[in-house]
Amino acid sequence: MPELPEVETVCRGLAARLEGRRLVRVELRRPDLREPIPAGFAAAVRGRRVEAIRRRAKYILIHLDGGPVVIAHLGMSGRMVISDGPAPPPGRHDHVVFETDDGATITFNDARRFGLLDLTCEAALAGHPRLAGLGPEPLGADFTGAALALALRDRRTPIKAALLDQRVVAGLGNIYVSESLFHAGIDPARMAASVQGRQASRLVAAIRRVLRAAIAAGGSSLRDYVQANGELGYFQHSFAVYGRTGQPCPGCTCDPTLTGGIARLIQANRSTFYCPHRQR
Ligand SMILES: [Zn+2]
Repeated sequence: MPELPEVETVCRGLAARLEGRRLVRVELRRPDLREPIPAGFAAAVRGRRVEAIRRRAKYILIHLDGGPVVIAHLGMSGRMVISDGPAPPPGRHDHVVFETDDGATITFNDARRFGLLDLTCEAALAGHPRLAGLGPEPLGADFTGAALALALRDRRTPIKAALLDQRVVAGLGNIYVSESLFHAGIDPARMAASVQGRQASRLVAAIRRVLRAAIAAGGSSLRDYVQANGELGYFQHSFAVYGRTGQPCPGCTCDPTLTGGIARLIQANRSTFYCPHRQR
């Protein structure tokens, strides 16, 4: 499932190819993804110039000239594929096709169809129901230790669950929450309200560092954030604890033969990976 760094690299790939281009053709090959695509979507988008591509949480925002904004979400399996030159014949899971005035084709492919395409306008964007309740961007200036401590103060849930709550911080998923808690040295089962002061600051720093490193890995392993096959984003990235049950954790003194190494914990039906020796 794409997490924030993957969505960010998809946005950067789209920006490099789309900003300043006009969308001359929009083809909806089915009327819905997870939800119906708004009536009039193609008509509202066709002929418009792409002014900017931005990201909010895991939403891709395509700002068009004159005010319309496309809100796209990759869901569980969504992919954006760019091809230059004549468009290849669409495949079974190619649901939406855009074509630019310089001859590029952008295909939204989504095998499981948990993705989403919505349409709003510049003036209504901030208040849009999908965006209005979101917490601060983890890489934004207003995500500080003090802000996180305040958001956690009354939460009696485990810190792992609190960080997945999009009202606390926007866009974090299972993988990067595990990674961030490891780097901050915080036990995922700890009560969220107890993460205050310097620990909240350390957690914010860990979240930002982990996300930035992942985005940088995407940038260094892809050319303009595009894979050789034209697919945007996604990249091989190594994790410190995620998916590494029983292995020694990096930079830690725990001995897998004595302690069992990295442990896996199920919280709210999701796996959390952590070092019981180091995370308190
Ligand atoms: Zn360890």
